[in-house]
Amino acid sequence: MSKPLRAFVVACSSLCVLGGWGAVKIGEANAAELKAGVARVDLTPPLELGSPLGGYGERMNRPAEGVHDRVFAKALVLADGDKKFAVVTVDIVGFPPPLKPMLIERLAGKGWTKDKIMLLPSHSHTSIEMNAINPTNLFNIPQIGIYNPKVFEFVMERLVQVVQDAERQMAPVSIGTSSISIDGWNRNRRGGDVTDKDLTITRVDTTEGKPLAVLVNFTAHPTFMSGEDMLFSGDWPGHLQRTIESLIGEGVVAMYYNGAQGDQSPVGRSDSGDSRWERAEHYGRDLGIVAWKQWQQTSTQQDVAFDYHLHTIALPEHAWHPDFMKTGGTEYGLSDQLLKKLLPLMFPAQADSISLRMGDLLIVGIPGELAASLGLKVKSEAARIAGASHPTIGGLADLWISYMLPADEYRRGGYESSVSFYGETLGDTIVEGVLAGVKEMDR
Ligand SMILES: [Zn+2]
Repeated sequence: MSKPLRAFVVACSSLCVLGGWGAVKIGEANAAELKAGVARVDLTPPLELGSPLGGYGERMNRPAEGVHDRVFAKALVLADGDKKFAVVTVDIVGFPPPLKPMLIERLAGKGWTKDKIMLLPSHSHTSIEMNAINPTNLFNIPQIGIYNPKVFEFVMERLVQVVQDAERQMAPVSIGTSSISIDGWNRNRRGGDVTDKDLTITRVDTTEGKPLAVLVNFTAHPTFMSGEDMLFSGDWPGHLQRTIESLIGEGVVAMYYNGAQGDQSPVGRSDSGDSRWERAEHYGRDLGIVAWKQWQQTSTQQDVAFDYHLHTIALPEHAWHPDFMKTGGTEYGLSDQLLKKLLPLMFPAQADSISLRMGDLLIVGIPGELAASLGLKVKSEAARIAGASHPTIGGLADLWISYMLPADEYRRGGYESSVSFYGETLGDTIVEGVLAGVKEMDR
């Protein structure tokens, strides 16, 4: 009996797909059903791997000495019919250009391509050094970090795992986003008063009402700790995520991503203690409570817009700022001669930017550290183009190529200009490029 029955089922499904009401009905059902899965993985390397901490040249590639709080990678996989996308948030300073292409190679067998994954680092300065996981970093300069193949492999294995784990447990979801403007949480470290005050919360619940994931976007450097601090930590975003997860409960996964934070510093809470660790915890916990309150007021909907688009931006010629040796050069142990060799090898001629639309949320990926003034410009233009009411910047998305400033700010110099390796037109090139990407997505 089983054989003829099976043959009948196969014949029926072929006929249904080939034509008739069955095919139409199946297609409609798929298009309306957005599914999502979420997963987390502990990304804290065992201390014996000798991972340096990223963000401060003065650490001279010394390995981390312990763990203050563990760092994580988290993935939210969305799928609708034949479309799928993975948002991966990571408590790490940033990603070197070669890492994502190598990750995609490992995930290619599961149907993943480079336009379907966005890596969003928090920019924690007390997590794995970016150049320790950069296989093209062959320079052995302790200030910029030395390549550590074991740490690279550790990170790659866990990023593969977190995407696959999330994809294994997909459920129909409803999604909603809301934003509030909050005063007194960040400042412009280059002077002036341009700050991005938006706190944007995206709620992803199963259609049965169980909270699955919460995306949180706020714009500030995680730099409460200094180069003297040698313990792993997610800094304030780590505390923020833990606070949201414990207030909501039900196993929800909170996923923080940064914005156009190139010149944005956090403003510590007035009643914080003296210890840098305490100040980070206090800030993250308080901001977590604000985010949780906003989450409670965020309503969700099924059958929301879901789209993504990758746009490749041709970058200007490599260049470095006349002040370079006074600021970044000294911190990072570089000379003019060394830069001539290093830039073409470690800094690409083009960079990808992904835009992701998820209901009213739009994330515009920026391949580095964008000044807030340019970020605000991208947000308002991109929202207009895409008709999305909650635009956000995905800061340092997928790869880190430089700080990115308006031309006059670049010329003014300072630390950020000295860590910007494509001259004064880089900021405008990136803004034009990412907006062209948003336009293409909208077609
Ligand atoms: Zn930075």
